[in-house]
Amino acid sequence: MQLILRQGRVVDPSQKLNRVMDVGIDNGRVAALSPKIAEKGRREIDARGLVVFPGFIDMHVHLREPGREDAETIESGVNAAVRGGFTGVACMPNTQPVNDCEAVTAFILSRAREAAKANVYPIGAITKGSQGKTLAEIGEMRRAGIVAISDDGHPVGDGQVMRRAMEYSRLFDIPVIDHCEDRELAAGGVINEGYYSTVLGLRGINPAAEEVQVERDAVLARQTGARVHIAHISTRHSLAAVARAKKEGVALTCEATPHHLLLTDAAVAESSYDTNTKMNPPLRLREDADALVAGIVSGDIDVIATDHAPHSIRDKMLEFDHAPFGIVGVETAVSLICDRLVRPGILPLERLAELFSANPSGILNLNRGTLAKGAYADITVLDMERKLEVRPEDFASRSRNTPFAGWKLCGGPAFTIVKGKIVWSV
Ligand SMILES: [Zn+2]
Ligand SMILES: [Zn+2]
Repeated sequence: MQLILRQGRVVDPSQKLNRVMDVGIDNGRVAALSPKIAEKGRREIDARGLVVFPGFIDMHVHLREPGREDAETIESGVNAAVRGGFTGVACMPNTQPVNDCEAVTAFILSRAREAAKANVYPIGAITKGSQGKTLAEIGEMRRAGIVAISDDGHPVGDGQVMRRAMEYSRLFDIPVIDHCEDRELAAGGVINEGYYSTVLGLRGINPAAEEVQVERDAVLARQTGARVHIAHISTRHSLAAVARAKKEGVALTCEATPHHLLLTDAAVAESSYDTNTKMNPPLRLREDADALVAGIVSGDIDVIATDHAPHSIRDKMLEFDHAPFGIVGVETAVSLICDRLVRPGILPLERLAELFSANPSGILNLNRGTLAKGAYADITVLDMERKLEVRPEDFASRSRNTPFAGWKLCGGPAFTIVKGKIVWSV
């Protein structure tokens, strides 16, 4: 056997497993799974004390190539991803040019093959140039390898365009991922509208800007029968709308980011206008963050995704009003969630596996998220006792824009394995 992980705790909800076992890998696939594999591996990992999961997938990242290679390339992005414990990432189409046709999709996939680390799953644009007007070449992109469509960053305002996109997505059995934001209601704001926007003198984004679009999408998803996934959900009312639609049988799913789970808009004040607390949607209230945490525990939220949005230091150095939205996330997400939610006993390991692996795989139809015999040997191994400090200067990403610098965390990746190959280890 090519590789054997010895005596790690295997947590795989797809097989209802949470027990100490050996995992044998051959030809890039899981070849054996048992309390003790008698055979010897060409290579063996002593996984005692470690937790072995189906590979984690970050279904919302921005890799910036083509167009903004100063902030991130596909290669630097996947290096960052595997360092953060991710075996796969789905990348948003808002590159320059936008991924709205076969040529850009093919380019991304060829760069990902050269990097040969994490799996890269391109997401195509909903509309040409993400301009919100006419549908992109969705069928063509699907044949080239996209796994979903989204105009992330440029929300589709026109309900009729969104309805057509949903109808069209059904032909290819791909989800529509929506960045829910009513641009008129958002009114050029830069921070959550509330106490802190007032005391800091910053333009506010009313939570309704997100909530009305979530409600619209729930209605359209029911109408069209399309699978719709709400990106970076941030308010308690948005979440309640998703939960309601799910109960009615609408094919609606959603994701939350670590920063919306762990931070609130108070961070903007506490950091004295650090632009690394500026993201879209903005950090919200304590009640919202608490509702999101309850949602990842209960299953109302399906996925944790980072919205990894690299920006160069020069761009983020602007004053708060003018700095771009977004923060990097792939190198901190898993440790943040382990430290703040898993270790304190809020989030069970089985839920962690669903949120980071089985559910993103299922939503994007990636045929992953399991360690069943015969499955791709994409594996994330965590050391729940690993102590680390978030040090942006050590990031593999080309960008450093994180609000978590200096945080001391316990729990993090130990090995990242893609198709049986160890692509990163601590
Ligand atoms: Zn977005
Ligand atoms: Zn995004």
